[in-house]
Amino acid sequence: MPFDTPDFTNRNVAVTGGSRGIGAAIVRAFAEAGANVWFTYRSDAGAAEALADELSAAHPDQSFTARQCDVSDAEDVTRFYDECLDELESFDVLVNNAGVTADGLMVTMDGAQWSKVIDTNLTGVFNMTQKVLFKFLRQKSGNIINISSVAGVYGNAGQSNYAATKSGIIGMTKSLSKEMAARNVRVNALAPGFIDTDMTAAMNDADRAKIVDKIGLRRMGHTDDVANAAVFLASDHAAYITGQTLVIDGGLVI
Ligand code: NAP
Repeated sequence: MPFDTPDFTNRNVAVTGGSRGIGAAIVRAFAEAGANVWFTYRSDAGAAEALADELSAAHPDQSFTARQCDVSDAEDVTRFYDECLDELESFDVLVNNAGVTADGLMVTMDGAQWSKVIDTNLTGVFNMTQKVLFKFLRQKSGNIINISSVAGVYGNAGQSNYAATKSGIIGMTKSLSKEMAARNVRVNALAPGFIDTDMTAAMNDADRAKIVDKIGLRRMGHTDDVANAAVFLASDHAAYITGQTLVIDGGLVI
């Protein structure tokens, strides 16, 4: 059987943190696949609205909506869900992508550094996921993609807070997949390695060269490398895959 491009025509998708970086690439990839996409941002309204406008012009038969919503704030998430997703007759895919870093060695890490990362990367995934679960249960269908990280699989010095959230996402993905599988809801995670985005832009050239030297494919990842995997996992091509974490790191750690 030929491997057709996944078709998300008339499907409804939500992506958190979709204004830039990996999230924006995921929004674009679902747009290319035919979906209507609702995406959130925390602060950069200009980038988010520009992306929605660009995609609306390129795909006039689909809808693209950018909404400010801090995923760490349960009330904000409820407002986003109630205003955008609740009324949809069917809702198909949630991508929990929003994430932040506040790096530092644990010995000097302060409580604010810890809480900021936990609240956004882990509690944010809980907040958004719990809102859509009732809809998925009623529909007896749905798909959740959680963006973890290789830091959550292998650990990374200077990122104990971040790695704790990204390992937590993997445990949450496995557990929720067991709760939801009988209702035809699949839950998977992606664990990107070093991907070229604002999050990794602060690295100096020497550190970047050292990292690239350790990557089997000898390059940083592109945002599309992650976005293509998100569309695949949400598609029927992955219909028998749930509870899994797909590492996308160019062979960094095997
Ligand atoms: P990024 O370029 O820094 O973009 C982060 C996105 O998340 C932005 O859209 C930002 O919105 C949004 N965001 C941040 N905090 C938020 C909050 N509290 N509520 C809602 N939205 C929020 O990051 P990225 O590199 O694309 O990373 C995306 C995801 O991939 C994250 O979960 C990250 O941990 C993970 N990841 C990244 C890499 C990498 O190498 N880049 C590797 C592994 C995993 P604003 O623009 O409005 O601030």
